[in-house]
Amino acid sequence: MISKKMENMVANSSAIRAMFEEGNRLAGIYGAENVYDFSLGNPNVPAPEAVKAAIRGILDEEDPVVLHGYTNSNAGYQDVRQAVADSLNARFQTAFDAKNIIMTVGAAGGLNVILKSLLNPGDEVIAFAPYFGEYRSYTSNYDGVLVEISPNTVDFQPKLDEFQEKITSKTKVVIVNTPNNPTGVVYSLETIKKMAAIMEAKQKEFGTEIYLVSDEPYRELAYDGVEVPYLTKYYANTVVGYSYSKSLSLPGERIGYLVIPDEAADSEKLISAANVANRILGFVNAPTLQQKIVKKCLNEKTDISYYDRNRETLYNGLKELGFECIKPEGAFYLFVKSPVADEKEFCAAAKKYNILIVPGSSFGCPGYVRLAYCVSYETIVNSLPKFADLAAEYK
Ligand code: PLP
Repeated sequence: MISKKMENMVANSSAIRAMFEEGNRLAGIYGAENVYDFSLGNPNVPAPEAVKAAIRGILDEEDPVVLHGYTNSNAGYQDVRQAVADSLNARFQTAFDAKNIIMTVGAAGGLNVILKSLLNPGDEVIAFAPYFGEYRSYTSNYDGVLVEISPNTVDFQPKLDEFQEKITSKTKVVIVNTPNNPTGVVYSLETIKKMAAIMEAKQKEFGTEIYLVSDEPYRELAYDGVEVPYLTKYYANTVVGYSYSKSLSLPGERIGYLVIPDEAADSEKLISAANVANRILGFVNAPTLQQKIVKKCLNEKTDISYYDRNRETLYNGLKELGFECIKPEGAFYLFVKSPVADEKEFCAAAKKYNILIVPGSSFGCPGYVRLAYCVSYETIVNSLPKFADLAAEYK
């Protein structure tokens, strides 16, 4: 008998697995080029050449026993963490030191480490819909309670009135994700400052500490020069979770980091807890080779112009067909209003044209669908006539 908790998780994850299998099935029948699979946020832009060169160089230069060995620090190599801190300080005028950086197994690893470090059973974690559905599992892993703020479907900035009302004495963590999966929205500086003021007031009211966890795997995927505020500058109890999965197109390699600034309440204890959590959650610290790659590739960038062209073409194409969506400012997702209230029905209709899209209810926002446009440009162009056929069903 599997555990009750896992029974729920298996039931929830089967929808995504079913979609993946459906994509493979359709590709087998119609050919991969005739399937328009917008279901997965897996980067299609290759990692920069410098990553390959870094891997080769590291393998040639380093003693394999040391390189592939267990690390003596749970937080990761000191020089790598110092390099990350220096790079952040130069970019965002912060004052981090190596001790504030903990190398993690991607953003997912980092989020689990920080939630494990912070949550007692029953503690509340606030997330703004639409949000990355895995937050539900990550919160439940540590017996926390996920509290949803309903979506603001006008511009998908967080609903701050509702946020203020839903903070309680049990609120321990607030997760934000900007640029956002699934909307592509970047939270404005004004929004961030208002959120910070609300949390500060609530901390005083309840005599508690509320940690803002900024989940930012899409930080570098921002278009048209939009500013993505660095949140530690606006709220002391901020922890940043970063990842190279999208910024260097390395999702399978599992590397990222947490930033726990000195300004965060009980920061030394929190850093110690996160160090231990990094070791005991099963993955045992961040991969050594990947840490070394990060240090060598800190100034490398993925080619976001590829995603930008996809964004423009898909957004303009769908708007012309009469679909409603806001233009994403970052990440590689488009969040489109379903022409029918039950968006799962719309997803099923899309599948008839070999278009695979994800229901918004997976992100706590029914009535919408997510399209991941990290696909080839040809897929975007060739999908538009199919979207036209789909749109015609609703005219
Ligand atoms: N957070 C968000 C919002 C994501 O979209 C993803 C992955 O798609 C993750 C976290 C996990 O990323 P990682 O591969 O770094 O674990």
